[in-house]
Amino acid sequence: MIVILKKSATDEQIENVLKHLEYFGFSTHNIAGDDYIAIGAIGVKPNFDVRKIQILDGVVSVFRVSDQINLAARKSENDSTTIKVNNVTIGGNEIIVMSGPCSVESEDQIFRIAKIVKDNGVKILRGGAFKPRTSPYSFQGLGEEGLKYLKSAGKEYDLPVVTEVTEINKIELIDRYTDIFQVGSRNMQNFALLRELGIGNKPVLLKRGFSATIDEWLMSAEYILSGGNENVILCERGIRTFETSTRNTFDLSAIPVIHQRSHLPVIADPSHATGMRDKVIPMARAAVAADADGLMIEVHYDPINAMSDGPQALLPEQFASLMNQLRQIAEVIGRSIGEIKLEKTF
Ligand code: PEP
Ligand code: MN
Repeated sequence: MIVILKKSATDEQIENVLKHLEYFGFSTHNIAGDDYIAIGAIGVKPNFDVRKIQILDGVVSVFRVSDQINLAARKSENDSTTIKVNNVTIGGNEIIVMSGPCSVESEDQIFRIAKIVKDNGVKILRGGAFKPRTSPYSFQGLGEEGLKYLKSAGKEYDLPVVTEVTEINKIELIDRYTDIFQVGSRNMQNFALLRELGIGNKPVLLKRGFSATIDEWLMSAEYILSGGNENVILCERGIRTFETSTRNTFDLSAIPVIHQRSHLPVIADPSHATGMRDKVIPMARAAVAADADGLMIEVHYDPINAMSDGPQALLPEQFASLMNQLRQIAEVIGRSIGEIKLEKTF
């Protein structure tokens, strides 16, 4: 930690700061400067509240040097975590696309969409059964019935599935049906839920809260990791800013920032980030170019009648064409996206 004091700080003020730092267990070193007085405070205290020093008379600012992020932090260049979900590896060279409808609406709907996405090289099927809607009057999901349809569609098309868990008392139920737990934006700081998911080892897809800084997001990952579950996948899904032209502001730069700071895989969700299908396409391309380890994209064959998020769902033909473009972008940066396994018709 570096403590900067006013050039005009009195000897008593400097003495007082030194006394406090020592009291809190830091060893101190004066750093000479012409325009300022600085004290280097040595000692790793990840949870130290720097305001305890910032509040002292004569102090201008306090900078933390060591990172509070521990288990989620990248320790070396080659320390990238890969997460296995059945025969799919997330965080490796292949960019994993997770697609499906926003909500599971019926057995027929999820089976139809599972086939569409599978035919286009998708590796993981998504679909919400418990929907955390902003309004209590909006469609809340089919619940367990939806989970059953999702799991059987995944089985039929050999796709692991991801679905959202919104509360602790649903973990056990959802665990029976899903391969990956999704923690949505609205629950990123539901620490009790994160702790509970940290006890098992089923992968957790942790979406960024729409008002969360990257530090807060990594701290939430830390909650899961510190319980012993090492399988955390981060997902950038847009943050709330003053801009209203898109549903959220897609923080694309979060992807290289996460890669630099953390060993965890990071995927991008241009569907929830932009909220409109015409914006989803260019931002999905951009996310691949930005080195995302995967994408989450909503797809629907009848978006006008979708029970949730229809306007941001890609139509099947748009999705097919996007996947072809993404494959080419991936190749340019030395990565790949699931090849389409064409069924033999002869
Ligand atoms: C979702 O993926 O279905 C969802 C609700 O996303 P988010 O939590 O990012 O809003
Ligand atoms: Mn949605």
